[in-house]
Amino acid sequence: MVDNTLDLDRRHVWHPFTQAKTAPLPVPIRSAVGAVLTAEDGRQYLDLISSWWVTLHGHAHPVIAAAIADQARTLEQVIFAGFTHAPAARLAARLAHLLPEDLERVFFSDDGSTAVEVALKIALQHARNKGEERRTRFLAFAGGYHGDTVGAMSAGTGSGFFEAYRPLFFDVRTLPYPATWDGDDEVEAKERAALAAVEAALEEQGAETCALIAEPLVQGASGMRMVRPEFLRAVVARVRAAGVLAIFDEVMTGFGRTGALFACGKAAVTPDIICLSKGLTGGFLPLSATVTREGVYEAFLGETFDRALVHGHSFTANPLGCRAALASLDLLEAPETPVAWTSIEAIHRQRLADLPAAAVRRRVLGTIAAFEVDGGGEGYDAAIGPRLRAAFLEQGLLMRPLGNVVYMMPPYCITENQLHRAYDSVGSVLRSSLL
Ligand code: PMP
Repeated sequence: MVDNTLDLDRRHVWHPFTQAKTAPLPVPIRSAVGAVLTAEDGRQYLDLISSWWVTLHGHAHPVIAAAIADQARTLEQVIFAGFTHAPAARLAARLAHLLPEDLERVFFSDDGSTAVEVALKIALQHARNKGEERRTRFLAFAGGYHGDTVGAMSAGTGSGFFEAYRPLFFDVRTLPYPATWDGDDEVEAKERAALAAVEAALEEQGAETCALIAEPLVQGASGMRMVRPEFLRAVVARVRAAGVLAIFDEVMTGFGRTGALFACGKAAVTPDIICLSKGLTGGFLPLSATVTREGVYEAFLGETFDRALVHGHSFTANPLGCRAALASLDLLEAPETPVAWTSIEAIHRQRLADLPAAAVRRRVLGTIAAFEVDGGGEGYDAAIGPRLRAAFLEQGLLMRPLGNVVYMMPPYCITENQLHRAYDSVGSVLRSSLL
């Protein structure tokens, strides 16, 4: 007898971010196209979270699939130290062209976490190479999440996810984060307090700090928490003045999610280092890029190896991933794409406004919409989260509330009808006895 997927999974698979003892069984998915996933039992689910924020143009997009297949028959992989290849060189040039100002030196790695690790290592060694060995500390925001590897967890202690690993962390000072929402009349006071905390941190430890890391405009994992662009600009101006580099983690916000190609462009502020992944390949393959200013790169040049960035992965700049990314960028730069962002944003605004009163702290930025369920508890492990997740699944929606925070971040191919149907179902879940 051939074992089925669930039997094999139950016996041998360890799932991410899952308490297997209490979680429902995973849903075996057989195939996917556009915004729709089809399960092995034939049930269909509308993917409203772009499968952990990666899928941009839709699942199994034929243009990206064809580019990967073509590349697989030509050059599937080659060591990236001492060798290069056209897909990587072209992708680096293309990213440099799309990113603002002089963000033009690209270091490839494998996923969002490693893109962040590379950024942290660049910031630290940049200071060292310039003779500023004292700059070993980092600044980050409460609620910031940057990945699950050790450095990224250290930078993301403010997300509250990683208590079990605390003995591994290095010193990061966590700053208050003035999250805001529609109709928030305390935003200015929160921003003033947060900026005062930035100034105090720089006053006390600025000369020992090499970088600040932030998710620009939207903190993803801690609950789609948004800030105003003016706050971000004010923070960057202050850290720059203290000789501290600004790292933007655009692993989630990159490639159009905020209704602009990058959140930094939307906020009109350019970091010194930017981390990209998730949507980079359109969501087909793991690949990431840490991109920095030419001036930062130049600090690593010299006659000796100890000035070089000592980092690399077996699959650095994998040609399949780079070809997928080039094909995804072609789609991203097509005239229809910003039209889709605008239409998704318009539906978010219209339909969020109509939700029942239990939906509080409503907020929208580009293709991202979020609200909190009133009385649903707070934090990632709020009991309402799994109940909502199950209710949405029952309605044929793939949604994964972050505790009491319900959000949507669909692939750009989602149709207006599909998105309206999703809001109809969310409305009926909010009106149900579940709350
Ligand atoms: N940074 C941000 C802002 C993220 O949202 C994530 C993943 N959710 C990461 C880093 C880590 O990316 P990965 O899961 O690909 O390692």
